[in-house]
Amino acid sequence: MKTLTVSVVTPDGPVLEDSYDMVSVRAESGELGILPGHIPLVAPLTISAVRLKKEGNTDLVAVSGGFLEVRPDKVTILAQAAEKPSEIDVDRAKSAKQRAEQRLNVTKSDEVDFNRAKLALNRAINRIDIADQ
Ligand code: ATP
Repeated sequence: MKTLTVSVVTPDGPVLEDSYDMVSVRAESGELGILPGHIPLVAPLTISAVRLKKEGNTDLVAVSGGFLEVRPDKVTILAQAAEKPSEIDVDRAKSAKQRAEQRLNVTKSDEVDFNRAKLALNRAINRIDIADQ
């Protein structure tokens, strides 16, 4: 059976490179399922879980947005930050969540800080969810 080589890369270096049967991502346009032989594609990703399927198992990676590039035999994910579940520090994510929630409560009048805090909150919730699965 054909497989896809999947690379997840951040500015700090590679997070994962392996072969999988299928990749599911949440792009800004919606959920995408990528199988070997998919047409070339570039899509922006949301703060979400990347699901990598191989022989009945699913590996997860938390991504903080970024881009998906698909070629027929290769999927590359470029993200500002990405972690496997075992790499996630849940206490750190819980602290980040709390900080973001406090900012959202006090800075409702400042749109820039509000959006920044909302993104930080989404990253923290995403990490907590993925570490828990
Ligand atoms: P924090 O406020 O805790 O730094 P953040 O969402 O602002 O959270 P990022 O800017 O997304 O952090 O990430 C900075 C770096 O720290 C990245 O390399 C990312 O992988 C890592 N990182 C952030 N939070 C965690 C976490 N909870 N567990 C493990 N690594 C993390």
